[in-house]
Amino acid sequence: MRIDGRQKNELRKIHIIRSFTKYALGSVFIEQGDTKVVCTVMIEDKVPPFLKGSQEGWLTAEYNMLPSSTIMRKQRDISKGKIDGRSTEIQRLIGRALRSVIDLKVIGEKTIWIDCDVIQADGGTRCASIIGSFIALVDAINNLDHTNHFEVYPVKNFVSAVSVGIVGNQIYLDLNYYEDSKANVDMNIVMTDDDSIIEIQGTGEERPFTILEKDRLFELALEGTKDIILLERDLLGKDAIRIGENKGYIGNKQ
Ligand code: UDP
Repeated sequence: MRIDGRQKNELRKIHIIRSFTKYALGSVFIEQGDTKVVCTVMIEDKVPPFLKGSQEGWLTAEYNMLPSSTIMRKQRDISKGKIDGRSTEIQRLIGRALRSVIDLKVIGEKTIWIDCDVIQADGGTRCASIIGSFIALVDAINNLDHTNHFEVYPVKNFVSAVSVGIVGNQIYLDLNYYEDSKANVDMNIVMTDDDSIIEIQGTGEERPFTILEKDRLFELALEGTKDIILLERDLLGKDAIRIGENKGYIGNKQ
């Protein structure tokens, strides 16, 4: 039995509130156990210089932990005068995860900004950020569609992310901070609904891990990502009806 009473293959309870803030085109408050993140999506009518004239859009993400999100106060980057390396790594992961399920040719020359602000951290903040941002992204795209009427739907797939790890000799799904801080091996996996891999981050924190252990971790993670996608489908209901209809838009360049 785990510290919070869960089974080895059990996710923490996920609770999502949509339309959480007023100004963003999509905004979500996600609670996964004691991890709490606000994810917002805003869209600007311009692209970075390398995409000017390309008729393609861009998606980028920023991730941040508020000072009181952790046990010891986390100093704001602005007071330190430099951007935290961990935050940079995580925001790039969130950006890659969401870029891989959106057709930026359909979006046109716009930038989609995803902002993830961790209010309370208890492990798995990057995965909760990806899940919350995905829901906020779908809401933002649907809101944009009311005025833009996309020729084809830009969101190609569902995306899901989960952590797994080896704590002691046990393989656990969805580690909380207590488990994460004791883990010998730690993995984060990002998947689509058609069982394709977007990213695997696996680290032997205390010791190397075997290929067999990697396979067992991956199997457990796959169970978790499938359950999260079911939850996303359920939550979005009819708002997700067009996801998957876009099988590769050729774009205006052809
Ligand atoms: N953590 C913290 N302070 C930090 C970084 C992390 O307290 O500066 C805690 C927090 O609970 C976080 C956990 O350690 O969720 C695991 O951090 P990790 O870098 O593995 O990322 P995460 O699991 O949150 O995606």
